[in-house]
Amino acid sequence: MAQVEAFIVDVGERGMDNVTSSLYSMHALHLASSDANAVVMATVREAESGDARCETNDTTNVILVIGESYNKRHASIYGYSLETTPNLLAEMQRGNLTVFKNVVSPYNTTSLTLKNALSCCSRSKHEEWKNKPLIMSTFKRAGYDVVWWDNQLGDENKKNVFAFSLNSIFFNKKIIESCYTLRNEQSFEYDHQLVDDFLNSHYLQKSTSAKRLLVFHLLGQHLMAVNRYPNEDKYNHFTPDSVIMQASYIDDAARVQIAQYDNATRYNDAVMAQIIEIFRDDNAVLLYFSDHGEEVYDYRYSIGRSHSRIKTKNYLRAQNEVPFMVWCSDKYMKSHPQVVMRLKKSVDRPFMNTDLVQILLDLGEIRSSQRVERFNPISDAFQPTPRIVFNTLDYDSVMNN
Ligand SMILES: [Zn+2]
Repeated sequence: MAQVEAFIVDVGERGMDNVTSSLYSMHALHLASSDANAVVMATVREAESGDARCETNDTTNVILVIGESYNKRHASIYGYSLETTPNLLAEMQRGNLTVFKNVVSPYNTTSLTLKNALSCCSRSKHEEWKNKPLIMSTFKRAGYDVVWWDNQLGDENKKNVFAFSLNSIFFNKKIIESCYTLRNEQSFEYDHQLVDDFLNSHYLQKSTSAKRLLVFHLLGQHLMAVNRYPNEDKYNHFTPDSVIMQASYIDDAARVQIAQYDNATRYNDAVMAQIIEIFRDDNAVLLYFSDHGEEVYDYRYSIGRSHSRIKTKNYLRAQNEVPFMVWCSDKYMKSHPQVVMRLKKSVDRPFMNTDLVQILLDLGEIRSSQRVERFNPISDAFQPTPRIVFNTLDYDSVMNN
């Protein structure tokens, strides 16, 4: 499966005719099912007999928000001069939000990134994602409720082999039975509706568990950005006239799409605020990351992800650099001053979004053989390792050349 997915990364969906595409789908489905068997076994085993134990008796809410297609250069928290992230900026100024500046994704596709990011595998140790358990089983084993609200269930898009490959694993029947306390059944047009749906479940009022891992998987800024936010005045904040990019190739059509991307980013900021408000008064820590970036006419006349064989600095900057941040409630900051100090110390460290599991285990105060402190970017023991993107390319050597 790894080779097939490497092929698709090189050729790209758009590079295939119908026949190639059908053959690819059949082959990929076959391989995906053998990968799925391996990861399902590892995950169920971990949930049933793993060695994970939680080290605290405190009530803890660990929230994981999985973003989509986020170009961090379009976020004010990363220095963009338009106000695309007013809520997150306010959290940052209050000291509740820690923003990591040097995080990259190993791929520019959702499925490949998320399988690696949520697996307890260590890429630095050349472990394959499919041979290690998914993180939800480690949390479950440690006594956490695991609650998953997903806006990419993809049930209306069965042709999409990527969503199929990912969801056939994350929502495999055996994994559902052994890992999840509760999950949603339906995707929505907009991400705020997904959060509303979670609130309508009244899980938080009914829950008797002291420990909860709550995952929100968003549509974020996925192409087409104009479809990611409601067509209402308050969300149509930016117009083609707001666009600040000056490059000579930027025409009217590009200006329209850049404004739409900025609106989708600002809408995402509102969704983040909606999630934060739920947990504001609790002992809560929230981690957000995006699966990959996106080109938004940054350095050439192109939007989206292009799967080009030649990967330049500009290409990697737009498609592989990702936003990554941790929000802590006031209560959490008071009860975990050491963690907060370690977070603040780590903002410039170079790591990948697939190192996520180590940070989550740390925030969840979970002791487990899956935990490796030298791979944990917020640990004092962290040792940076080469950041290999697209399986073979050393990201830092390209950027430093
Ligand atoms: Zn994606």
